Amino acid sequence: MIKITDLEKFYKTEELQTIALNKLSFEVKKGEFVAVMGPSGCGKSTLLNILGMLDDSDGGSFIFNGEEVINYNERKRANIRKHNIGFVFQSFNLIDQLTVFENVELPLIYTGVKKADRKKKVEEVLEKMQIMHRRNHFPQQLSGGQQQRVAVARAVVNDPKLILADEPTGNLDSSNGNEVMDLLTELNAQGTTIIMVTHSEHDAKFTHRIIRMLDGQKVTENSLI
Ligand code: ADP
Ligand code: ADP
Repeated sequence: MIKITDLEKFYKTEELQTIALNKLSFEVKKGEFVAVMGPSGCGKSTLLNILGMLDDSDGGSFIFNGEEVINYNERKRANIRKHNIGFVFQSFNLIDQLTVFENVELPLIYTGVKKADRKKKVEEVLEKMQIMHRRNHFPQQLSGGQQQRVAVARAVVNDPKLILADEPTGNLDSSNGNEVMDLLTELNAQGTTIIMVTHSEHDAKFTHRIIRMLDGQKVTENSLI
């Protein structure tokens, strides 16, 4: 599903050039659940931004579903992104002015789904995430665990092939964190490929494989299955 080869990313500021990704290569097959770990500053967020087509790389190859996407312009990348990729963030990133229902509905509006179909799909996903009883609440009225369940609902409402998760349990206590990990595990069991950045060795145990990074490079890959 994803193959990156010699991926490079540089950040230039006035007196300093940072090499955020230094010829990083790995492959993730369809249906895998992979953890990306490494110390702060090793390039994990940069990597997720490129995999999510939110940012450009400065060199190398990035094959997504058999297509070389490295030179795609913003319009083409946005098109792939909205149909194929769901994002889950540490800080939930819900829109405070919208209800739970409206937050989850948003990706369906972007992809042009009709109103009646949107309602059906949003309700189905809210049921699955066990947050239906909160459909008319606003994010600030929910606990952290509930907010992350809404965020997962929003990430999966378009049936993405890939979920990119950035520290999805980072703001949750262990019980809510485990609940979110169970949800991701279930989505993966149903066929969704997941790449998750995490600092938590506990959360990494839910995955199939850990890619460990240091200074923009891959240092090891260990399979857990
Ligand atoms: P991680 O997510 O593993 O903490 P990042 O991908 O955020 O690592 O950062 C990798 C390196 O790139 C770090 O040295 C960081 O300081 C640098 N970096 C990240 N974003 C920027 C930016 N917008 N401008 C300049 N340097 C950046
Ligand atoms: P659920 O049973 O829906 O999984 P949780 O156990 O995740 O609920 O949430 C813990 C409790 O905290 C819930 O009863 C929730 O209503 C309550 N709660 C947290 N923050 C708020 C808030 N700002 N307004 C109302 N209720 C809140």
